[in-house]
Amino acid sequence: MKKRVVILGAGPAGLWSTLVLAERHPELDVTLVESEDRPGGITGSFDYRGITFDYGSHRLHPATPPWILERISGMLGNDLLKRPRNGRILLEGRFISFPLRPADLLFSLPPSFSAGFLKDTLVSPFRRKRDGTTFEDTLIMGLGSTISRRFYFPYARKLWGLPQGELSAVQARKRVASGSISRIIGKVLSSVFRPGSAGNIFYYPAKGFGQIADRTAEEAEKLGVRILCGSPAVTLKLSDKGIPEAVILGNGVEVMADFVLSTIPVTRLIDILEPTVPQPVTEAAAGLSFRSMIFCFLEVRGERYTQYDAHYFPGEEAIFSRLSEPGNYSMSGYPPDRTGLCFEIPCSRGDGIWGMDAEEVLARVLHDLEGTGLPAPEVISHTMIRRENIYPVYDLEFRKNLSQVENYLDSLNGLVTLGRQGLFIHDNVHHAIEMGVAAGKCLGADLAWDREEWAGYGKVFESHVVAD
Ligand SMILES: Cc1cc2nc3c(=O)[nH]c(=O)nc-3n(C[C@H](O)[C@H](O)[C@H](O)COP(=O)(O)OP(=O)(O)OC[C@H]3O[C@@H](n4cnc5c(N)ncnc54)[C@H](O)[C@@H]3O)c2cc1C
Repeated sequence: MKKRVVILGAGPAGLWSTLVLAERHPELDVTLVESEDRPGGITGSFDYRGITFDYGSHRLHPATPPWILERISGMLGNDLLKRPRNGRILLEGRFISFPLRPADLLFSLPPSFSAGFLKDTLVSPFRRKRDGTTFEDTLIMGLGSTISRRFYFPYARKLWGLPQGELSAVQARKRVASGSISRIIGKVLSSVFRPGSAGNIFYYPAKGFGQIADRTAEEAEKLGVRILCGSPAVTLKLSDKGIPEAVILGNGVEVMADFVLSTIPVTRLIDILEPTVPQPVTEAAAGLSFRSMIFCFLEVRGERYTQYDAHYFPGEEAIFSRLSEPGNYSMSGYPPDRTGLCFEIPCSRGDGIWGMDAEEVLARVLHDLEGTGLPAPEVISHTMIRRENIYPVYDLEFRKNLSQVENYLDSLNGLVTLGRQGLFIHDNVHHAIEMGVAAGKCLGADLAWDREEWAGYGKVFESHVVAD
């Protein structure tokens, strides 16, 4: 009988581990399980009244390793576009380029901001540098007070729902790619001397970001993988020896398993294990929290709303953190007289906005948009999607809780957790792909898991810093 591997979650980590396993070990019986109706997770796309929308702004950053770009362009051919980046951020009531450029920080913002940033830059070599314990002290040491207090701290509170002093230093190291003044300056110099290398281009599939997930799933299916979409894994049965036996889906289907690779939220994985896990582990998992998000999608009259791919809103003036216009990402296949807008609203389940209906969310979005100075869009129709488990929140206790959960999962055989939600990490798509490929390489045809090799990859994953 063939050995059976089940992969939970068809985001990039799940899809790529599936593909690599199917390529390396055709003798295995591989099944990929996804709760949503199609593969991709939030890297998927969907059609709404003839407009292809992504779940928020998604692009392949220039930091994507060449071997991943080559593989994707092999799948997509001419459909993988190289596009100039054209974003703006609303800072201190003014729109400036994003990613940030020191020239704008010095000359395009109010004098008090520019003077503060200049002073922070000049004293930067003399600032005390040590390992911070919170997001707040790490950024103040790296970037100085002005840009930290007037940009990163409000943005952090909006994205992750906690004040800067209650977020771990790790959140700063993972999420603020320009964590020091010298790095901001380095980025600018490389964009001047090596155009195309640093932040001013991106890669994007002509038919929406989800084209990558769709093509990856097609390749896996061609190799014999079974993909079951539309129903979540609700139970993962373990034998007396703690080895996977079967995965049960919400629709009652039972998938037999000898080995499970899980990319679903690690908190959810702990919940679905049967027999149930020891109470201290459940409590530690309950101490880990993810931020959720509402996506508000508008169909708008006119060929384009603005010329920009994305606008960023770090401040309190708007409930949304980003507005993107998909037509400016690929420019092809969009209706000539209509365009789409996507607003990302970070929130938590208990927040007032979480319980609002689509009309109420739209009213709030349009109200706040007016306050930003952008034109009022002529809305034809709109829709909304809520998603949980969007960003891991690194509060000051997360390390302790996460280690307890990880130690327990490490004690089981035949079950490995990976990916953004599985490892509770911040990442980009290319990081998730790297993780998936690494997992596919660590599993042998005999289902032996190479723990040493995986631990080596783990060190690489730890060094990942998110590009925005
Ligand atoms: C708003 C936003 C914008 C982003 N933009 C970019 C960008 O421009 N560029 C970039 O490189 N990265 C971007 N990212 C990051 C990127 O989305 C992640 O790196 C990537 O999704 C991680 O892939 P993953 O496979 O690890 O996890 P996920 O994509 O989260 O996949 C997990 C999958 O598991 C499924 N699942 C959950 N529970 C169950 C269950 N019980 N049973 C079965 N399936 C389940 C989910 O539906 C999902 O499909 C963005 C992230 C966000 C939130």
